Amino acid sequence: MNPLRRNAITTRPRGDGHPHWCARDHSCTAYTMPTGEHRSDLLVWATDYGKFIATRVRTRTGKDRIELRAVVRLDANQRTAHGQAQRLVVGMDLAVRDALRAARTTRRAA
Ligand SMILES: [Zn+2]
Repeated sequence: MNPLRRNAITTRPRGDGHPHWCARDHSCTAYTMPTGEHRSDLLVWATDYGKFIATRVRTRTGKDRIELRAVVRLDANQRTAHGQAQRLVVGMDLAVRDALRAARTTRRAA
């Protein structure tokens, strides 16, 4: 997958207190809100089913997370669409769990 927007992860540090991947725009609330957080540019991939969107986030206390969103076209038939929606939710949960488990295994092996 190639993101449609620039990859914020490759931006250079500027020494302004933001992580190097922070978008440094209105989406970053780290220094403007009591519970603010740094947010990367949206990384958007066009897919054959719709879009996949990722955003990296760091809280003011330094806790990192990634927010993932899939935009998926569902079938016009409501019964089929319901089945697709159920499978997508379960499948995404399993994919996240599998990726996290694989990362832990890789880290231990290194
Ligand atoms: Zn920031």
